[in-house]
Amino acid sequence: MYINGEWIEAQGQKSLEVINPATGEVLGTVPKGGKVEAESAIQAAHDAFSGWASLTAASRAAYLKKAYDLMVDHQDEIAQIMTLEQGKPLAEAKGEVMYAASFMEWYAEEAKRIYGEMIPASKENKRIMVLRQPVGVTAAITPWNFPAAMVTRKLAPALAAGCTVILKPASQTPLTAVKIFELLEMAGLPKGVVNLVTGSAGEVGNTLMEDPRVRKITFTGSTEVGKVLIKQSADTVKRVSMELGGHAPLIVFDDADIEQAVEGAAASKLRNCGQVCIASNRFYVQEGILEAFVEKLKLRLRDYKIGNGMEEGVLIGPMIDRRGFEKVESHIRDAVEKGAQIAAGGQGYHRADHEDAGFFFEPTVLTGVKEHMAVMSEETFGPLIPIVAFKTEEEVLQAANDTPYGLAAYLFTQSLSRAFRVSEKLEYGIIGVNDGLPATAQAPFGGFKESGIGREGGHYGIDAFLETKYISIGI
Ligand code: ADP
Repeated sequence: MYINGEWIEAQGQKSLEVINPATGEVLGTVPKGGKVEAESAIQAAHDAFSGWASLTAASRAAYLKKAYDLMVDHQDEIAQIMTLEQGKPLAEAKGEVMYAASFMEWYAEEAKRIYGEMIPASKENKRIMVLRQPVGVTAAITPWNFPAAMVTRKLAPALAAGCTVILKPASQTPLTAVKIFELLEMAGLPKGVVNLVTGSAGEVGNTLMEDPRVRKITFTGSTEVGKVLIKQSADTVKRVSMELGGHAPLIVFDDADIEQAVEGAAASKLRNCGQVCIASNRFYVQEGILEAFVEKLKLRLRDYKIGNGMEEGVLIGPMIDRRGFEKVESHIRDAVEKGAQIAAGGQGYHRADHEDAGFFFEPTVLTGVKEHMAVMSEETFGPLIPIVAFKTEEEVLQAANDTPYGLAAYLFTQSLSRAFRVSEKLEYGIIGVNDGLPATAQAPFGGFKESGIGREGGHYGIDAFLETKYISIGI
């Protein structure tokens, strides 16, 4: 753990093992921190806040730019650690590292554009000035599926705004976070500005949530845990940013470019073995194009080599654990029992001598899927493509919006008016029009409804870490 500029062990030397999900091999350990360590991190972040917030924006930007350069220089090393602890194929891990680094660069630039405002007053002898100031000590809790990008997407705007941070990374993937913190240390950030606490999610989480010095919680993870954190935030009225679960519809209209639709469907679903909150989860295909789409998709899926992400050419790595694997199995079983057909794949494998690692699943296509099947109301988080046929635009919009989630949605059409019409009616925070991979540092990322609160990325992403102060001046 990295607290107040020091690398420390947990009290009593307690530790957690980090496991390679492809092989079950123990990669190393991280300290199992709890209340004591979370409290010292809060104290450190609290003590460092005023100094960090008082720096010029240009100084904070320089640290972030340095962190960006270091991440680029160490991209291969970070990617290797990521593949080993998370499982995604190495080429994909490299892509994530560069995406993660891009938040450092983007917010290094944005730090310099935190502008205030002068508002015309209603009296001659008054002036109205508006300042934007950092909210204060920020707690960031991140998931295992993007071990680098979720860290920097929170840290970079928080630091740019002038906040100090305590990060609690996912217990499955803390080593990527440790590496990023080594680089932040090399970048020379003043002590206490960034703190890393690994360990017990409940204990560290509760300590961060109870403490009034923590003014902001930014979280990416399950809707279930997000709801707990929102409730906990009420006692001290913390500012909250929540990136929670999704259940993305992907709609293919008859007038779509079929190659583009197949490519978009495969990309949005199969990256990181489907373990992505914006992954397409329900596939609505219009009747006239259904058969051709399924045939082309089946062909495309043959290219997806399954295996250990460290091996050349592998495109589908392991699932993170047994629970993730069993969810895919249960969605397939439930759908087949209720009348769906397996059009491709369907098999899972357990290839390691470890009870919670070595779980692989083939990309699987289900046809004849109906709304009452579990896969149509729950996030699968695996390489499963359930296809539903539809007739009209009205019908598909109704079905697509009929969910408590609202993170991402995708549509494929060559009609400009349909693209606008449908995009505007979809109750989702991110819409990919003929695009299966919309996420990028300069665009706002976040969900409607139970998929979250607030936006990360772009100039929107820095708002989450700023308070607005109004100064009324008599002259
Ligand atoms: P997933 O199902 O993707 O693992 P979770 O929401 O369980 O998502 O985990 C996301 C992050 O939240 C992880 O860092 C995890 O350790 C943390 N977490 C889990 N439970 C709690 C909790 N009660 N309080 C705070 N953080 C938690």
